[in-house]
Amino acid sequence: MRIAMVSEHASPLAVLGGVDAGGQNVHVAALSSALAASGHEVTVYTRRDDADLPERLAFVDNVEVVHVDAGPATPVPKDALLPHMRAFEEELVKHWGHGRPDIAHAHFWMSGLASLGAAGRVGVPTALTYHALGSVKRAEQGHKDSSPAERCLIEAMLAQRTDRLIATSNEEIFSLLRMGARPSSTSLVPCGVDLAHFTVEGPVHARSAARRIVVVSRLVERKGIGNVIEALPSVPGAELVIAGGPPWDQLDDDVEARRLRSIAADRGVEDRVQLLGRVERADLPALYRSADVVACTPWYEPFGLVALEAMACGVPVVASAVGGLIDTVVDGVSGVHVPPRRPDELARVLRGLFAAPAQLRTLGAGGARRAGQRYSWRAVAAETVDAYRATRAKVVEVVERVG
Ligand code: UDP
Repeated sequence: MRIAMVSEHASPLAVLGGVDAGGQNVHVAALSSALAASGHEVTVYTRRDDADLPERLAFVDNVEVVHVDAGPATPVPKDALLPHMRAFEEELVKHWGHGRPDIAHAHFWMSGLASLGAAGRVGVPTALTYHALGSVKRAEQGHKDSSPAERCLIEAMLAQRTDRLIATSNEEIFSLLRMGARPSSTSLVPCGVDLAHFTVEGPVHARSAARRIVVVSRLVERKGIGNVIEALPSVPGAELVIAGGPPWDQLDDDVEARRLRSIAADRGVEDRVQLLGRVERADLPALYRSADVVACTPWYEPFGLVALEAMACGVPVVASAVGGLIDTVVDGVSGVHVPPRRPDELARVLRGLFAAPAQLRTLGAGGARRAGQRYSWRAVAAETVDAYRATRAKVVEVVERVG
């Protein structure tokens, strides 16, 4: 198939470039590569945020990245990108007019908007992975949510009009149905993990004899890193290593890094908390392997790639029972679920695990098994293609019925 991936703010190139890429960049890069490896031809359309970027760039064999002119050729926060989506749509129409893809798979609601507009004009079936939902964000973040006011309305419109919605978790399916999505147009396809990169065996990041909790996360409040620090006084002797945010030498300028340090100082655990700053993907497996436990305790989480990466490295995950983490981390099999925003519960679970090394080993092995059996990108790509085929079959059926 000829697949157009549309990812307006999250370029797959950011993954290679070592920018502190979030889950969407990783997802688009890995899914596109896996689709190409199984014989499909993928073009990723992403916004040009640097004047020096070429229009087209080969990412891997059969995956090309196209930089779309929409808005200034400089970095623009994603919450300020909506006004540029009309221009993005126009560019997609031009590209697809020259060679129509078999499917347009948009990532994030703004890509969904631009793609739906362009696809309608050119006659291409559409699929959409939201990655995060405005309604969930608003409920969790309240006035701190900086998304455009129109986001929830547009997302609901997309839920009703996009040919195929690809949800990454069961919780998301329920949200989409509440937004008016038709069950017959909705597929559940999780994110995957690079099983050749995130492995049980391999180098291990240097560590002390202390029990080690590792967090790998963007430094944003809703990721609940502060809650892990708050748990630390009640987990005697354990150390917490946090990867993420800007490079190490720029952490002093990062608001969230400063907030986390001040929580650690307030709780008297600053000597047991280490912020590493951004860790390159190449170095992440060794860091995961050095952990007794990886903590993923966000307040909400559309999917949560870090939990999968840790599982693939054979490390137990203590995860908030929210969003995608409810599906990926199976309580008692690959980790333990805790309620979000409950440092006391988190501390109780961590103490219990650290007192039971055999259980840690069992959970680690359970996670590696689960990651291998369920979450290879190859399997995820095959399920994605099934969703595309269902979409195309349905579009043809509707066209025939109307015709
Ligand atoms: N990540 C990274 N280096 C870091 C911190 C994070 O490469 O220092 C990666 C991490 O390995 C994961 C992604 O960023 O692949 C974060 O994805 P996740 O779904 O957990 O959270 P998101 O950032 O999408 O909210």
